Amino acid sequence: MSEINKIYESLGISKEVLAYGEHILKGLEERFARIDHTAEYNQLKVIKAMQEAKVSEACLLGTTGYGYNDLGRDTLETVYANIFHTEDALVRPQITCGTHALALALASCLRPGDELLSPVGKPYDTLEEVIGIRPAKGSLAEYGITYRQVDLLADGSFDYEKIKQAVNSRTKLATIQRSKGYQTRPTLSVQKIWELIAFLKKLKPDIICMVDNCYGEFVERTEPAEAGADMVVGSLIKNPGGGLAPTGGYIAGKKECVEHAACRLTSPGLAKEVGASLGILPSLYQGLFLAPTVTAGALKGAIFAAGLYENLGFAVVPEGKEERHDIIQAITFGSPEGVIAFCKGIQAAAPVDSFVTPEPWDMPGYDSKVIMAAGAFVSGSSIELSADGPIKPPYAVYFQGGLTWNHAKFGIMKSLQQLLDDKVIPYHKLLL
Ligand SMILES: *Cc1c(COP(=O)(O)O)cnc(C)c1O
Repeated sequence: MSEINKIYESLGISKEVLAYGEHILKGLEERFARIDHTAEYNQLKVIKAMQEAKVSEACLLGTTGYGYNDLGRDTLETVYANIFHTEDALVRPQITCGTHALALALASCLRPGDELLSPVGKPYDTLEEVIGIRPAKGSLAEYGITYRQVDLLADGSFDYEKIKQAVNSRTKLATIQRSKGYQTRPTLSVQKIWELIAFLKKLKPDIICMVDNCYGEFVERTEPAEAGADMVVGSLIKNPGGGLAPTGGYIAGKKECVEHAACRLTSPGLAKEVGASLGILPSLYQGLFLAPTVTAGALKGAIFAAGLYENLGFAVVPEGKEERHDIIQAITFGSPEGVIAFCKGIQAAAPVDSFVTPEPWDMPGYDSKVIMAAGAFVSGSSIELSADGPIKPPYAVYFQGGLTWNHAKFGIMKSLQQLLDDKVIPYHKLLL
């Protein structure tokens, strides 16, 4: 037995699972090479942006108190603006998460009487309360900002006719979610986003187009501002934080949009001038530096999981051979036991809390029990190997992340091993 087989076996991976995994991987070589190419391009893009902004050792120091003249913070914002092809950016630890960044972008650019449009269907769950689709304190609805939604057509394409009808004199901002999030519609490519924004701007040239970029960063060579987006928004504990950023969010966009967001985050008049970076700038820089290859590892993991479980007869979204535009992989097991075993396997593969057994629980805001697997260095980080699934039909899990491809590979094999150990899948299905 080879050394590598031995160490896999010592971590609980049977030779059948290992052989099955290797068999699936043989068919993925060409796709992996393409992912590596994209990572190479994006790695150089990040280095170029850091060099052009003259990132120096002094940038890694950070400030306390008011945070006036925070060289590292201001330079990092220049780097983000360069990478995302925008005029300016706001990148702050004071932006607590992706939802906060999105709420900030929306609330800062909308005024009472304005209307918000989602031309891509229902937005991410947490935005329902931000917008006021579900009543919540401080929602946009409470401030007299109305909302209109145009769903995607059954085949996932834009409903241009309905979008045309929906845009009116009050339509101020269109929110476009790049990733499918935890839905089953397709994720939008940057090309598709370009088509949509071109259409919207033709209907109404001054409409602000905001893209929820969560989980999409560095998956392609271009980012949504290159497709005409006025604002691009995301979380630092997903792709662009590279697993090292301990907190934070970003809004990159037109100067005016970023200024609005800064005035709302801090205060009118103070805008970007305050906001101490404390001690975390090294991890924000270094995480961004690693983000292209970390994202590539997560993408390989998603494709490996799709290929493996598709081959075993389970429905997967996206399908194994489909082009990728984000790092999320859905797998439908069709039974609670399948969802639970998968999450147990992912947890058992973690570097942190591997000895913990995840259990379904009544999570606030959900109408069924949810099981989650996360043994992350940064709490709740979903660029790290993680999975979750609501315990309700069709019994699907959503899987993402992996700071390294090797970890993602191990985690997926561990999940398969657990499905076998829990007798959700019989061993004979692995016969090659
Ligand atoms: C994760 C995510 C969000 C919200 O980010 P949080 O950091 O969890 O608040 C919003 N939109 C999409 C598409 C996401 O994937």
